[in-house]
Amino acid sequence: MNREEINGFLIDTFNQYSLKEEATQGICPLCSSNRQPKNSKKQCASYDWERGLGTCHNCNTTFQLHTYQRKGASEKVYERPEVVDVNLLIQTKVEEWFKTRGISKSTLLAVGVGEGKEFMPQTGRKENTIQFNYYMGDQLINIKYRDGRKNFKLYKGAEKIFYNIDSIIGYDSCVIVEGEMDVLALHEAGIKNVISVPNGATLNSNNLDYLDNCIDYLEDKTKIILAVDADEPGLALRQEFVRRLGAEVCFLIDFKDCKDANEYLLEHGTDELKKAVDTATQVPLEGVSTLFDIEDELKDFVKTGLSRVTKLDLKTLIRFFLLILSILLLLPVFLVLVSLTLLIRWLLVTTISMVGKLRLLHQRITQRISTLIN
Ligand SMILES: [Zn+2]
Repeated sequence: MNREEINGFLIDTFNQYSLKEEATQGICPLCSSNRQPKNSKKQCASYDWERGLGTCHNCNTTFQLHTYQRKGASEKVYERPEVVDVNLLIQTKVEEWFKTRGISKSTLLAVGVGEGKEFMPQTGRKENTIQFNYYMGDQLINIKYRDGRKNFKLYKGAEKIFYNIDSIIGYDSCVIVEGEMDVLALHEAGIKNVISVPNGATLNSNNLDYLDNCIDYLEDKTKIILAVDADEPGLALRQEFVRRLGAEVCFLIDFKDCKDANEYLLEHGTDELKKAVDTATQVPLEGVSTLFDIEDELKDFVKTGLSRVTKLDLKTLIRFFLLILSILLLLPVFLVLVSLTLLIRWLLVTTISMVGKLRLLHQRITQRISTLIN
């Protein structure tokens, strides 16, 4: 058993729950203490020390056996929030609010959500805020503050990374969502290997700094499930992820009538949310989508050409110009082909008539010779 590192990640705390070392079966650090006394010693979990993961068959979830140090620190120097700022004591009011969103206190404690007063530029004063702590290894890298009016801010000048990035070490797969609330929702459903983008999705300029800062964590994944919002910015972000991570490892979740994981949790419950993740489908391969793109483009072109001739915009003009240009370029090729066909036809006709004439001549000569002999 390697006590130093797993898959290139240096172990920070070996065996963080003090489980029975080298055993392959044992208690579950998440549920055993909450079970009835007669069941609390049951070996409901299996431990995989090679991968650093445990799986519980009672609470139907997985957990990491160790904690890890940060892998691949960035060269740029960033501001860091002081760990003193972090207050993990969730007051009852905040706890109650999370409950209305389907999130339990144990999830808040497990993921390390805090709360406290913070100056919010949107309101110009200090507000009570929920604080999502962005850890990487044992380092607090950033904090996302959220006040009661749904205003957000990140710690000024701090590095941008995925939220909950440590959670995916050791797993072959992970889920990427668009907000911290969705991380908590999936955690609630027993899916622990889930991370969130730090700054939501925007339509045009999806700044993916955080992906570069965390790329070491995603390199070994064979399945990356993209569960971003089903709106236009979400789809743009999804497309950018597929481009950067490769279509072959990317999978998509269908949240049906819901816009995100948290809404799906509230509508359908934890079991259905887990099922939605388990049945994620692979992103269609690039070639296929490109073909459809072209087909759509052509349809659009014909449509705009027919219906919007009067209000030609620059794009349509350029397309029109390109069409004319391609016709002009193709015209000489067409002419050459026609002339070649005509030439071949002429050659064939001439050859056939020549052969006919020669045959006639041959006949006449034979006749002449035979009359001469006779
Ligand atoms: Zn368990």
